[in-house]
Formats: sequence, C-alpha cells, structure tokens
Amino acid sequence: MGFFMNERELFFSRVRTQFPMLSQKVHDLPFVYLDSAATAQKPESVIEAMAHFYRSSYGPVGRATYYFAERASEAFAAARSRVATFLDANASEIIFTRGATNSINMVARCFCQAFIRSGDEILVSAMEHHSNLVPWQEAARRHGASVRIIPLLPSGALDMKAYANLLSRKTKLVAVCHMSNVLGTINPIDTIIRAAHDAGARVLVDGAQSVAHMPISIRSSDPDFFVFSGHKLMGPTGIGILYGKAELLDQMPPYEFGGGMIDVVSEQESSFVPAPEKFEAGTPMIAEAIGLGAAIDFLSQIGMSTIEAWEKELLDYGLDTIRKLPGLHIVGEPQPQGPLYSFSVDGIHPLDIATLFDAEGIAIRSGNLCAQPLLAHLRGKGTLGRVSLACYNTKQDLDRFAEVLLRIIQKLHE
Ligand code: PMP
Repeated sequence: MGFFMNERELFFSRVRTQFPMLSQKVHDLPFVYLDSAATAQKPESVIEAMAHFYRSSYGPVGRATYYFAERASEAFAAARSRVATFLDANASEIIFTRGATNSINMVARCFCQAFIRSGDEILVSAMEHHSNLVPWQEAARRHGASVRIIPLLPSGALDMKAYANLLSRKTKLVAVCHMSNVLGTINPIDTIIRAAHDAGARVLVDGAQSVAHMPISIRSSDPDFFVFSGHKLMGPTGIGILYGKAELLDQMPPYEFGGGMIDVVSEQESSFVPAPEKFEAGTPMIAEAIGLGAAIDFLSQIGMSTIEAWEKELLDYGLDTIRKLPGLHIVGEPQPQGPLYSFSVDGIHPLDIATLFDAEGIAIRSGNLCAQPLLAHLRGKGTLGRVSLACYNTKQDLDRFAEVLLRIIQKLHE
C-alpha cells in the first residue's frame, strides 16, 4: 500500500477508531478482524446506548405508566421505527426476533401452517446457509411438501434459467439469500421476486449477509419476508428482524403464546393483538433493540452507499494482493460480489491455515461455513477458509493478510 491515503481511506480510518475491539492486541500483535460475516464488531455508540439504558433509563415496555416504563417504551418504539426507515418499510410490519435463524423458523412454522399443503413446493437456492435450508426441510416434511433446489452456475451466480423452469403453480414459497456467506454472490432479488410473484409464489429474502453492506428498500424490491440478525449489523447479539407483509402476517397464526401478544384472555380461550406484537410473546429484548437502533444510526450517518463503495474498493484491493499466489484457489467469481470470499490453498487444510493466521493476530474463518451442501458441491471436501470484511477494515489489514498468506505458502514449498 502507498503512503498516501485517498479521501475514502482517511474517512474510514477514522470510522475504525470508534470500534474498541479493533485496538486490541492478540499475541502482542495488532488484532486484524476478517470475520465480520460471522459477526460484526461494535462501535462505541452501540455499547454506550445499551449501557446508558441499563445504567440510567431502565424499565419495562408495555402498559406500565410510570416514568421509566414510558421512557423504555418510547425507546423501544423508536428502535422499531429506525429499523423500518433503514429497510424502507412500515414499522407495523417489523417484528423483533432473536435473530435471522429465529425469523426464518417463524416463517417456516407460521406461514407454512397457513399456506402450505401436501404436494406444494418450496424453492431454495444451492447457496443457502443451513439456517435458510433446514427449517424448510422440516416444514416440508410436516406438510407433505417438497424442497427443490435452484442450482448455481460455475461462477457462483444463481442459474436464473433453471430458476424460471422450477417455478410452477406448485411453488408456494421461494427462500433465497440476498448475499451468500460463502461466495459473496449478491443475488438479483428484484428479478427473483418479480418472477415468483408472477408465478403466484411468495418470497423470503435472507438478508443476514447483505444488510450491513448495501442499501435495502423493501418498498422497491417487494419481498414478502426479509430477515436479518442485529449482530451482523454492528448491533448486539440476541436480536433480529422479521419483516413480513401485513396481509400475510394477518393470516398467519402466532409463533408463541403468552403475555404481550394477547388481546382478551378468558379461562378457556384468548384473542390476539395484530402484528407486530402478535409475534412477540413475552418480555422483548429491550436493550438489544435500543442497541440495534444505535447501530442503524451509526451506519446511516455514514450512508450505506458510501459503505458499499468503500467495501468494494477494499475487496478489489484485497483480491489483487493475493490473486497470483501459487496454489491459492478463490472460490467462484460472482458478479456482483459483496465483501467476502472463500479460498483454499493446495497442500494445507483450511483449519490449519486459520490457526496459523491466529498466531499472527488475524481472525479468519474456516470450516464448512454453515453451508454443507454448497461446499460438497464446490469442492467435494467440506472445508474452506473465508475472509469477510466490514467498513472498519483497512488496506493495511489486507496487506497483513497477504503477507502472512505468502509466508504460509512459501513455507509449504520449502
Ligand atoms: N443466513 C446467512 C446467509 C448467514 O450468514 C447467517 C449467519 N452466519 C444466518 C442466516 C443465520 O444468522 P444467525 O446465526 O444470526 O441467526
């Protein structure tokens, strides 16, 4: 890397200083975090928003009428509105869940109970995370339906011709990721959704990977469901989002039953309030919602298009520093690609590579990346290394990664 930083680099080097974890040392070396696709680091403002709530503004949400209960209820409602604005959706269609996995399970249970019948089909892509595959397998089993797989092209893009051929009157739901957690592929969700709607099917978009890296507009893309986890968006763990279209949420049964979601309860039966509360039984994750709201504020102040452009610059830079290394295989070359890629190196197991990187203070992921069917299809092996970026990464991080990778490869050939 040159000595001079461009304006964007300078701006994001300042953004980075707001993440206390990124000034840690590991084994006496500066910590380099390249596993944001697993979970993102947190800015001071998120940590502080949650600490402030617990320290000086704590109370329950709901019907209590005292001062701190009202403050907590306002903060909770404001967090829901922030999520709605961030996704360009209505707040009444935003449900707080425990995470993307929990959101998908809710749809798999409640949508399928209302709409899936024996002989119906659920389409999922061959690049799905286990969390967007296994719940559909279970739902299909429960209802006598089947799961059909949309195949991939060698580039790692979805085979859109095969998708068009798979769509039929039997298709009730299409569940696809917006961005692959293994290949980085960004799927053309607008086209996928339009084709599904033309065939009379509904669409769930798994936004777990995309949401921290690009602007999202529910109003313009028009998915029926959109899910993500707070922790990958620089918010806390333990909270996620299920966006669902009001007309569908109305027709779906609740997921869990108890306080918070009821209207009138008698000894033998109960009625329920409308969504979103209908799907939020029990005391919700108040501090986590506030933390998620703060994360959204943080990202919105930078601007998702600015983040997208910076991460593309970083990804291209990072790939250029390693592309020519002998024995290195980067998996797929999807266009467009979000800020992550998976790789293998001839002669060394990905788990050993990750351990060698850890010894240098660099965190990368290796393993089956929660996508066993995709890895079986790609390499027939089941393990890969993965580098994933967020806007707090720098070109120096990628230089360090390239230096260490080169050293590992040279050692192999000694
Ligand atoms: N889908 C994708 C594409 C993911 O990458 C992940 C997390 N790795 C999930 C779903 C599940 O997210 P969570 O574990 O936060 O529920």
